[in-house]
Amino acid sequence: MQILDGKIVSQAVKDDLKQQTLDLKAKAGKTPHLAAILVGTDGASETYVASKIKSCEEIGFKSSLQRFQSDIDESTLVEAIEALNRDADVDGILVQLPLPKHFNEEKIINLIAPEKDVDGFHPISLGKLVQGLPTFISATPYGIMLLLKHYNIDTVGKHAVVIGRSNIVGRPMSILLSQNTNPGNCTVTLCHSKTQNLKDICLQADIIVAALGKVSFLTADMVKENAVVIDVGITRVADSSKKSGFALKGDVDFENVAPKCSYITPVPGGVGLMTIAALLMNTFNACVKK
Ligand code: NAD
Repeated sequence: MQILDGKIVSQAVKDDLKQQTLDLKAKAGKTPHLAAILVGTDGASETYVASKIKSCEEIGFKSSLQRFQSDIDESTLVEAIEALNRDADVDGILVQLPLPKHFNEEKIINLIAPEKDVDGFHPISLGKLVQGLPTFISATPYGIMLLLKHYNIDTVGKHAVVIGRSNIVGRPMSILLSQNTNPGNCTVTLCHSKTQNLKDICLQADIIVAALGKVSFLTADMVKENAVVIDVGITRVADSSKKSGFALKGDVDFENVAPKCSYITPVPGGVGLMTIAALLMNTFNACVKK
């Protein structure tokens, strides 16, 4: 069993981007700028945004963060996004999800200018992805593709089972794995909460991507020998032994599943770090394109 180490691969991506950012500044006088918007004080969202901003600083990007109280009205958020759309200095816009319940997330995401949609959540980005056209690929599935590529995982003709059909992870993941690319060229089964016989389907999988948000859902009896297992889940579970008071848990019962796998991602230290690396790549590309 080999660990797919998001720490090593994301660092390699960031080192490369750092050099490319220096070159871009020297040649074109441009520096990529990621603008983040955070509404409310959700602990996990605070942590994610802070890591994204820190990563920007590490590699020489500009970053900015606008924070709003959770009870702001829609027009305030709309104006903030429209101002960022107009701001020629901003290359990428990130609205941290989830938004407080009184917002329609779809409507808010659709306001982001597609050329600044570095999270890849806009319908235009997703539509282009479906057609195999160049676009901003949703950061988590993009990060997973980078991880598979780095470790040279053979995906051609393999049966990939994706558990979860969200527009930001499961669905784009299923599309990417099915495309005529490397990694890619898988035969994909997309599973969800209404799927029947999930265990039987998983037992046929050469590659499993678990993205449903249920701690330790994928157990050893659902995984065949030598499968590649990618754990997208991140759930905070109370843990008094940790300074923070919680531990991060994935969707895979790592301890029992790992011995059966050829490759597996840990949580933390796997997909989460690759998501940030992919977001940075999208931001760099947005700057270059402009
Ligand atoms: P979501 O809640 O939008 O979607 C969950 C999906 O899981 C749904 O499509 C649902 O049909 C499916 N599902 C639920 N119960 C199921 C069951 N019993 N069997 C089969 N399918 C089932 O979630 P999301 O936004 O896609 O996120 C999923 C998980 O990934 C969460 O834990 C989230 O925190 C995590 N996440 C991690 C990263 C990262 O960078 N590592 C990024 C995004 C999301």
